[in-house]
Amino acid sequence: MAGIYLHIPFCKQACVYCNFHFSTSMKQKERVLEAMMREIVLQKPYLADHVVDTIYFGGGTPSLLSADEVNRLIDALYANYKIGDLKEVTLEANPDDLGTPYLKALRHTPVNRLSIGIQSFRGEDLKYMHRAHDEQQADYAIKASQDAGFSNLTIDLIYGIPGLGDQAWIANLDRVRAYSVPHFSAYALTVEPRTALHYAVTQKKAEATDPGQAAGQFEILMERARQMGFDHYEISNFGLPGFHAIHNTNYWMGIPYLGLGPGAHSFNGNSRQWNVANNAQYAAGLLEHATLNMELEQLSDTDTLNEYIMTSLRTMWGMDMAKIELQWGSDVRKKLDLAAQDFMLQKQLVWENDHYRVTDKGKLFADRIASYLFFSGEHEKNR
Ligand code: SF4
Repeated sequence: MAGIYLHIPFCKQACVYCNFHFSTSMKQKERVLEAMMREIVLQKPYLADHVVDTIYFGGGTPSLLSADEVNRLIDALYANYKIGDLKEVTLEANPDDLGTPYLKALRHTPVNRLSIGIQSFRGEDLKYMHRAHDEQQADYAIKASQDAGFSNLTIDLIYGIPGLGDQAWIANLDRVRAYSVPHFSAYALTVEPRTALHYAVTQKKAEATDPGQAAGQFEILMERARQMGFDHYEISNFGLPGFHAIHNTNYWMGIPYLGLGPGAHSFNGNSRQWNVANNAQYAAGLLEHATLNMELEQLSDTDTLNEYIMTSLRTMWGMDMAKIELQWGSDVRKKLDLAAQDFMLQKQLVWENDHYRVTDKGKLFADRIASYLFFSGEHEKNR
């Protein structure tokens, strides 16, 4: 079992908070797509022993691809990889791209799930974040997608936006139910270094985010999602039963994946590698020198353990202590059991069926708890 991720590094305009790899110039689009076709062939050995059952178009903005371009990439995957019964083929889309003709054309591709970057249903939030769409397009995109036959939808929402009061946040969440959307992801707005938002905040040209507001809205989110019947199956992800994201869940379960395209990351259980996050360099490497510009990091046993601690604690399944003992030994287990006691006392972790899980209170600090539990060196506890 394995997944393939295709990174489409182009956007119509730059959202102020974004630190993903993308370009707002389309000049390189043909060359990058051509280079991706070459990379598909070049990377064939990476998944030679695996059957691919999920494909994910992420970005950037994959909905800037035509349906023909989507089909061309998927045909190349079929020609070079063992593609099984594809359970999930997701395409990230921005609302302003989801007109009816495009959606109808997408129905003639293997794409069976759309991930729509709504972020907010309020015009003022969309303007603050410099999104390319407005509130009418946010509404329309969902309805038009469903009318075109895409029932397996997920939408992205952002909370902690300056000016987004709690009632307005609840109203955004209520649209999920009103539109019968079976899955959504919700993220706190963060001011990342080297973003337009960071510059504007430091220059006092934009209001800064407030961690207290974000924490309060995360609590509202957990409560509302529960009332609406969603499983909170990963810190930022909520799905109705039967609609959990398969591709992303496989990431968290440590299943191998191959990332194709500029800036894309791959993981095979023993190492991570990532392609150069520069469209021109990526395309020149593949088209002119038949080489992939990328870096590789070999993972140590301790790296793999820490990664398991981090990802498992972010999911509703939690950290499986029998697995830890089997894979990393009883000494590691004992040290973890000891370190977890503090968080149990603070009611941030619970222990059930030999798994540690974060409580609602702990979910606010899941990454911090995980990093406290990390090991260093050859299974040496960090503190
Ligand atoms: S559309 Fe997505 S990838 Fe592009 S700038 Fe906005 S947040 Fe970033």
